[in-house]
Amino acid sequence: MRCIRANWAQRQAEESYGIPEAELTPWRDWSLPSLRRQWNQVKREIAPWWAENSKEAYSSGLACAARAFDSYAASRRGQRKGARVGRPRIKRKHRGVRSCRFNTGTIRVEVDRHHVTLPRLGTIRTHESTCKLERRLASGRARILSATVRQESDGRWFAAFQVEARREPGKPSRPRVAAGMDLGVRYLAVVADARGQVRYVENPRHLGRALGKLRRVNRQLARRQGPAVYDPATGRVTRRAPSRGWQEAAKTAGRAHAGVRHLRTDTIHKLTTSIAAGYGQVVIEDLNVAGMLRHGRLARYIADASFGQIRRQLAYKTTWHGSQLLLASRWYPSSKTCSGCGAVKAKLPLSARVFTCATCGLVLDRDRNAATNLAALAAAVGAPEWPGPGREGALNMPAEPIVRPAAMTPAPPEQAGRRR
Ligand SMILES: [Zn+2]
Repeated sequence: MRCIRANWAQRQAEESYGIPEAELTPWRDWSLPSLRRQWNQVKREIAPWWAENSKEAYSSGLACAARAFDSYAASRRGQRKGARVGRPRIKRKHRGVRSCRFNTGTIRVEVDRHHVTLPRLGTIRTHESTCKLERRLASGRARILSATVRQESDGRWFAAFQVEARREPGKPSRPRVAAGMDLGVRYLAVVADARGQVRYVENPRHLGRALGKLRRVNRQLARRQGPAVYDPATGRVTRRAPSRGWQEAAKTAGRAHAGVRHLRTDTIHKLTTSIAAGYGQVVIEDLNVAGMLRHGRLARYIADASFGQIRRQLAYKTTWHGSQLLLASRWYPSSKTCSGCGAVKAKLPLSARVFTCATCGLVLDRDRNAATNLAALAAAVGAPEWPGPGREGALNMPAEPIVRPAAMTPAPPEQAGRRR
């Protein structure tokens, strides 16, 4: 309820001053303080129920609106990387994500490790134990910055805490060993270290497994009375109250999607942690994931394997564990080079699963060959100076590097998800 109302509040605040780009009158200030001021002026009139909810419900909606306007403006000015950002839209009451972020007030993780206290919501029992977070908070190694309450598509509520945590500098279990990691669809990852050990990580294909079920439930949804009625004569869509059967099928679909998401998150986190904590240097290809996702046939498999997420997690986890992430240029022919003699093939079709070298006669699994080549690239950068985080070690880089350290992105604040 709170979160739907946050959406309403956002919508009403937007309406009360108009979408800036569309106006010809002088630009309005869309910073958070200004939006808040305007909201406070009009809330008695347009939302007489405002006092029923935490002020953070409105505030987090306004903060998102302010950010959306910022991103849109920056994108229009060409100062924003990535795809173009559209004009901020007003969210529908039933379709938005139900979430609310608490920045102020009583935000506490209770000592019994099974309750959290949030402003206005009071003390809530959590399904999962909060012991890892509570232990850090109690010993003063972490400080809560904010808490976000959110409803997943399977209907469960989660509370996530953004904390500032002090980390002991970690040390990978094999600091002097470099590993190459070849991401793929047949195997999620093939990891080869410089000492010749190879690890094949199965691709669990969580989405692929759930597709049959999703197909069934989507068919059901289509046959039941949903909230939208399309009139083919006028092309208009009108709204109506969905039937109970439709709502039930929608819940099943939401659960299936959430299940896939949770399984995938778990697999990727376990993989990246074991790699980042295991080797001193990790070499991956600097893949053009956005480009690969435009591939008609493979896009679904690539999205299901979440290559981009693997790289993002490796980037911050290597800083936690004191290892180093290296990116091989996307033009480096990791698959076409022979890991035995270094001969480069002109062409290697995707269907050729086994690499056969015409020069030295080496016969090797394609992915293993690529991973071994990537691992060998780490030598070009040099071993990180140990002890100490490898990223800051002096790197002797050629002008056009084949392999380069991953750009230093600020490590995200540690998050702990807790369900209630
Ligand atoms: Zn060869």
